[in-house]
Amino acid sequence: MLNDRVLAAVLEFRRKRNWEQFHKPKELAAAITVEASELLEIFQWKSHDEVARLLESQARGRVEDEIADVVILLSYLCHDLGLDVNAAVLAKLKKNEAKYPVEKSYGNARKYDE
Ligand SMILES: [Mg+2]
Repeated sequence: MLNDRVLAAVLEFRRKRNWEQFHKPKELAAAITVEASELLEIFQWKSHDEVARLLESQARGRVEDEIADVVILLSYLCHDLGLDVNAAVLAKLKKNEAKYPVEKSYGNARKYDE
């Protein structure tokens, strides 16, 4: 997900603060959900037009900050679990391709079992 230089910086930030002790998988999963909710909160109750204007304003920085929070926490979780996120994504894409073949899914957003 992150390149080696950025991942090293993220891990160093945590190590310097002795925060590994707080980053058990369950706590990281909960924190990811909290940060994803903070991202959603920025858009909450706004129309698509309002969101588009927001993304072209200074408030875009808030979106970038919350996305960064999610990615940082996901990076800790992947690192701690020894998970190869690129391999996991490719494996999941393969499963999704089976669930959502192009000929059935093109241009529609229905779930595979609907
Ligand atoms: Mg946040």
